[in-house]
Amino acid sequence: MSRPRIGIGTDLHRMVHGRPCILAGVEIESPVGPIGHSDGDAVLHAVCDALLGAAGLDDLGTVFPDTDKRWKDCPSDHFVKEAMLLIGEKGLVAYSLDIVLQLDRPKIAAERPRMRKRLAELLGLAPDRVNIKGKTLEGVGGKGESVSVTAVVLLGDR
Ligand code: MG
Repeated sequence: MSRPRIGIGTDLHRMVHGRPCILAGVEIESPVGPIGHSDGDAVLHAVCDALLGAAGLDDLGTVFPDTDKRWKDCPSDHFVKEAMLLIGEKGLVAYSLDIVLQLDRPKIAAERPRMRKRLAELLGLAPDRVNIKGKTLEGVGGKGESVSVTAVVLLGDR
């Protein structure tokens, strides 16, 4: 790894009734789900910003503006795949990904293996190069009404 590059991304979405709960590209059984222009997958949005940031590219909102109808209800794994193509064009690959996922509901402990697997597939990594940690929000901002994500990614030369 001659020239490593680190990137950070964060995201915050409201959790509302009647939305599918898709986080890290995985649908989870839940009474509430993240609302957004796309599918609201705050994990994948934070991952995209970390990837784009590490590669010195424009941020997610610039590359995929939420005023563009093409991205309405778009599965967010599309954004990650596009970001991976963009970093690939710069001769870069992902080496590792670490995530903190904060939400009060649903509980994600049982979903972590599926999330790691999906994230690893999207970034072309072995699952042990990906981690995702769940924390509660302790009711800050209302009980179970938001999801907050921080993602850190390490990129390097292919
Ligand atoms: Mg978002």
